Amino acid sequence: MQHFNPEKAMVSIKREFGEHGGVAPSIERSSTFTVLHPGTMPAIFSGTLGHEQDGCYLYSRHFNPTVHMLACDLAAMDGMEFGICTASGISAIACAMLQICRAGDHIVASNTVYGGTHALFQDVLPSMGVTTTFVDPTDTAAFEAAMQQNTKAVYTEVVGNPTLKVADLPALAEIAHRHAAKLVVDNTFTPILVTPGQMGADVVVYSMTKYINGASDIVAGAILGTREFVFELMDLHTGRVMLLGPTMDPRTAFDIHQRLPHQPLRIREHSRRAQAIAERLHELGAPVAYPGLPSHPQYKLYASLLNEGYGFGGMLTLDCGTREKAEEVMELLQNREDFGYIAVSLGYFDTLISCSGSSTSSEISDEEQRKIGLSPGLLRIAIGYTGALEDRIAQIESVCRDTGLVG
Ligand code: PLP
Repeated sequence: MQHFNPEKAMVSIKREFGEHGGVAPSIERSSTFTVLHPGTMPAIFSGTLGHEQDGCYLYSRHFNPTVHMLACDLAAMDGMEFGICTASGISAIACAMLQICRAGDHIVASNTVYGGTHALFQDVLPSMGVTTTFVDPTDTAAFEAAMQQNTKAVYTEVVGNPTLKVADLPALAEIAHRHAAKLVVDNTFTPILVTPGQMGADVVVYSMTKYINGASDIVAGAILGTREFVFELMDLHTGRVMLLGPTMDPRTAFDIHQRLPHQPLRIREHSRRAQAIAERLHELGAPVAYPGLPSHPQYKLYASLLNEGYGFGGMLTLDCGTREKAEEVMELLQNREDFGYIAVSLGYFDTLISCSGSSTSSEISDEEQRKIGLSPGLLRIAIGYTGALEDRIAQIESVCRDTGLVG
């Protein structure tokens, strides 16, 4: 089933040209904007004049033309009404949740989310009176059972970091909406591949640090939602993005904007290579997990969520059992084979490898890691697209053989 065509959606947006007719847009670096008549200023502050309909900008922590251009393109790519860019993925998540929840409210969240998100929900939001019940993202009934009168949001990643468990987005949307809560989806692992807004997500958040930028040289985030929700986030009196202030720099927005057009090509190639490597490792009997393998427990569900033609994504895991074995494997992959780099993050053109339990998920206690099936030896491998694919397969195969991961 084809849900959405992000490439088609991306050309539907109004193209911005540079000031002098350049094929690339200009960067508007001003922090503040002139108004033609003094009476205009109060009108902008009171909201009767705005940047969209009247072209009136106020101040770049509010809206900036270059950052706004990126937000509009992202929203179009995801079939969402509107969006706002932020200085990081975690600030996008924090601001979105703080906009939806007040002291006394409750969140039901997947228990296999990025470690920073887990820490935000577990350790920071309770100090503001917002509590979270964590549940297995594959157990839809557990979401239903955890819903309370004061639940304002259901939160999940599409493909959980790092366990690669897949959430049933349409089912979670149905549960959230029946309880008058919002479904918030982190689509950082699966841009282009999955379009959560088409499956009932009310708010989509991104760490653009990863696949969307694709060059590991920028930290950035975004929140997509209805026009109403974005204007709430930017409200001069109560907007969490406006008042907590994780503002994106216009030069950052320009850089990301110039990389958006080739995002579908990049995603296809990440997927093609991850699929080939996962299939070979699976054939050898290596402890590989990849949601594009029919052996993955949510393979069919994931296939039903995917947009057509982009594959199953670039993330796979190799469970080495212990942290010591994982470190031995990483050492050889980087320092003997040059297969990729030992580094956190993902979405880069080179392969990045990390042992999640002791790095990006270390905020999650050992006991909780055991409970969610995160082995201390789990290597998260974000497959890149440099080098020849057959060489990459030979490199990882040789490391798996030499470390006893395959016979
Ligand atoms: N969401 C996911 C799934 C992530 O993996 C990360 C970071 O690793 C984040 C959010 C946070 O993003 P950022 O580092 O851009 O703040």
